[in-house]
Amino acid sequence: MNEMTRISAQPAYSEGVQALLGREPALFINGEWVRSSHDARIPIHDPSTGREISSMVDASIQDVDRAVAAARTAFDDGRWSGLSPYQRERIISKLADLVEAHIPELAELESIDNGKPRSASQGYDLPKCVQTLRYMAGWATKLSGEHIEPSGMPTGAIHAYVRREPIGVAAQIVPWNFPLMMAVQKIAPALAAGCTLVLKPAEQTSLTALRFADLVAEAGVPAGVVNIVTGMGETAGDRLVRHPDVDKVAFTGSTEVGKIINRAATDTLKRVTLELGGKSPVIVLPDVDIKKTAAGAARSIFANSGQVCIAGSRLFAHRDVFDQLLEAVAANAAGWKVGPSLAPDTMMGPLVSTEQRDRVMGFIEGSRKDGASIMAGGDAPGGEGYFVNPTILVDVKPEMSCVKEEIFGPVLTAQRFDDLDAVAKAANDTSYGLAASVWTRDVSAMHKLAAKIKAGMVWGNTPSAADTSLPFGGYKQSGFGRESGRYGIEAYTELKTVAIAL
Ligand code: NAD
Repeated sequence: MNEMTRISAQPAYSEGVQALLGREPALFINGEWVRSSHDARIPIHDPSTGREISSMVDASIQDVDRAVAAARTAFDDGRWSGLSPYQRERIISKLADLVEAHIPELAELESIDNGKPRSASQGYDLPKCVQTLRYMAGWATKLSGEHIEPSGMPTGAIHAYVRREPIGVAAQIVPWNFPLMMAVQKIAPALAAGCTLVLKPAEQTSLTALRFADLVAEAGVPAGVVNIVTGMGETAGDRLVRHPDVDKVAFTGSTEVGKIINRAATDTLKRVTLELGGKSPVIVLPDVDIKKTAAGAARSIFANSGQVCIAGSRLFAHRDVFDQLLEAVAANAAGWKVGPSLAPDTMMGPLVSTEQRDRVMGFIEGSRKDGASIMAGGDAPGGEGYFVNPTILVDVKPEMSCVKEEIFGPVLTAQRFDDLDAVAKAANDTSYGLAASVWTRDVSAMHKLAAKIKAGMVWGNTPSAADTSLPFGGYKQSGFGRESGRYGIEAYTELKTVAIAL
């Protein structure tokens, strides 16, 4: 593909989605759609065309305060945490059913807002939302504390137990790459634990979170338990993080903003979990099936146009198979049909915004100047949307910015290695530590590498095996805390030790 390749036209939106885009921008606070205290709006663009398709509220500080007040009251009066766990489970399950019934509409909204192919939003993001809601609904009735026998007192003298209580009001701030999935990954465990919350979706992609609010009301979640405010990070997001009535901040986004949030949350010592960026290695040993591994490596970096925190952006291939593997990855990359999000044959959509496209192209240009060779892509197809072709950079050095920094686009760097210790060292030579994949049939090498790699998740012979039941999160500057599974729901709880002399 080259610059002369033009992208096909974005198919027409459905009538239902057009009607949703025409709705008056509003915020979902205390179970109702309310107007903002001021008239500021944020335009919404379709990244496949660059066209403005609607707008949303740019929430003011007063709007955020109103949402937090609603969440605080709803937590303190026990209208949610006071329900039986079974009742909470039923309501969250109903929400899952409603999301499932609306998958086509929500998937279309997600695709025109974020740019991801409809096949991905409908086939992955939305089913994952439903699965997460159902999985976490089940935890509502399983979560409990424990009885502990004190070690230094006569047995039976003290009755001691640990209560696991909901943490309170959660502020949840999410990015634009998997908009509703990231939101649900935070909302579902918070609800199951008995918390109330204010969610701020990303200013680039708030459409599905807003539609989700309708379903929250329809499912019977009591007013004030889930509040959704759209707005900018530096204003609405910052107010949420600093608000004295917020007990916990759950953030997914860039490492840069994660650090700002962690500092801001320190004044009130809020509980903080951070899911941040990554620069994940894909390590290929010489015994692999080349074609299958190449397809996996390509999927790891080109899915969602590379805008994935766990993207396998650094390929390390053993010297014996490097050339063969890279040729196969390049051949695979050539088969990724780049196109508008709603076209049925699109495999890779545009990037989310002009800023993101320019940033990615800047990295590619910079790498070229630094001496990297472009083995595939490196250019943008013609058209109005924010497209970048699948790109592979070779002849890269560890100190180059394309190897060190998170590009968050469809750009793969490839390096050779000779032995396990060397590749483990190279893979760990990063400030990030989110994920890694190892490709080999050698069980011993697989487990040795899994132990050596400093990352929150290591996958074997697959680009990713993220699952609602498995802890998700990072080492080092990829953040702290874990989402999903038991750890994900426990992150919305506080422990209280009760010890009574009998
Ligand atoms: P971002 O950090 O710019 O923004 C994320 C969210 O934070 C948005 O809602 C934004 O409005 C808000 N925000 C920005 N400044 C803020 C501030 N000062 N106070 C409070 N909120 C603020 O990230 P992005 O560009 O939207 O997303 C891409 C990044 O997210 C990448 O680095 C990616 O790796 C990371 N990410 C991580 C995970 C993970 O689970 N580890 C998952 C998805 C994305």
